[in-house]
Amino acid sequence: MPDDQPQLTDLASLGEFGLIEHLTRNIHIQHKSTKKGIGDDAAVIQPKTGKQLLISKDLLIEGVHFDLMYMPLKHLGYKAAVVNFSDIVAMNGVAKQIIVGIGVSSKFSIEALDEIYSGIKKACEVYQVDFVGGDTSSSLSGLLISVTVVGEADKDKVTYRSGGKPNDLLCVSGDLGGAYMGLLVLEREKKAFQANPDMQPELTGNDYILERQLKPEAREDIVRMLEEKSIIPSSMIDISDGLASEAIHLCKSSNTGCVIFEDKIPIDQGTYDSAKEFGLVPSITALNGGEDYELLFTIDQGDYKKIENDPDITVIGYMTEPSDGMRLVTPDERSIELQAQGWDAMRKRELGV
Ligand code: ADP
Ligand code: MG
Repeated sequence: MPDDQPQLTDLASLGEFGLIEHLTRNIHIQHKSTKKGIGDDAAVIQPKTGKQLLISKDLLIEGVHFDLMYMPLKHLGYKAAVVNFSDIVAMNGVAKQIIVGIGVSSKFSIEALDEIYSGIKKACEVYQVDFVGGDTSSSLSGLLISVTVVGEADKDKVTYRSGGKPNDLLCVSGDLGGAYMGLLVLEREKKAFQANPDMQPELTGNDYILERQLKPEAREDIVRMLEEKSIIPSSMIDISDGLASEAIHLCKSSNTGCVIFEDKIPIDQGTYDSAKEFGLVPSITALNGGEDYELLFTIDQGDYKKIENDPDITVIGYMTEPSDGMRLVTPDERSIELQAQGWDAMRKRELGV
């Protein structure tokens, strides 16, 4: 936030109520289930009969979860909302309402908050989610965004991490590793810029992986596809922290083991090329890199025919008895124990921090 731009308006100029009013203008309610949105002490939601409410929250802190040096504010708002929608999707549900808490230091302007809110509102428009409330506070340093999402799913379709059974097929949506490679490109350019501020960032040719990092999407389309094909996954999780770590979560919750075939892991060509450029093994970026927000789920073998020709779904392995452990089978047919390196450890290692 460079403060050498005189056209920016101080947050203090509106006061707390003025600021809330300003930020929450142009918010329209779309769902009948939202009885009251912004403007009272609490939002009022009337879920439809036969539905269960799903509730989740994600907290994003500047310098911990995002870096404003390369994260545009509008994207930050969009991502803060979408990662919450993804948690609802991972329960086989659909997001309906959000509440946004924001803590902001005086280094931010009204225009900066407007950018964040335009991203949140855009996400609400794209995913048809009602923005029904929030809280606003000053913070001593930096920016904090906390989003709470309310979603719903048919009572008999809510999918937990715990329902996987031996012999179920392990499936993944989309492709993996892109968001992590996007992050590495952004970190590389940030370092180059810090070393030499006259340098222009070299981002061309990396559109796909940058979009994966800066503008992730929640796979609500997969939930709709599963519904259309009458598939209820036996277990499901969204991949925020790397395939390996999420597969281990599914297995532990389901009390199963698993086999993942390394050469079945879906990786986009752009991700592959960029991993090679960084001297990384592409499948390792998919296994350990996070923030792709794809879905990892298990289905009964009887449902295989329904998804075998779906270009968006890849069967990467299957669930086993717990005593068989969680295994990764390499292209040369070695079976090794699946390790959860997670996003943070991986990031530290690659960046040498
Ligand atoms: P309270 O004193 O009960 O916390 P506020 O004055 O903070 O109430 O909020 C007034 C209304 O504005 C409430 O409906 C609240 O949900 C909404 N609101 C407050 N801050 C935000 C925000 N940052 N984004 C969206 N809605 C907000
Ligand atoms: Mg308040």
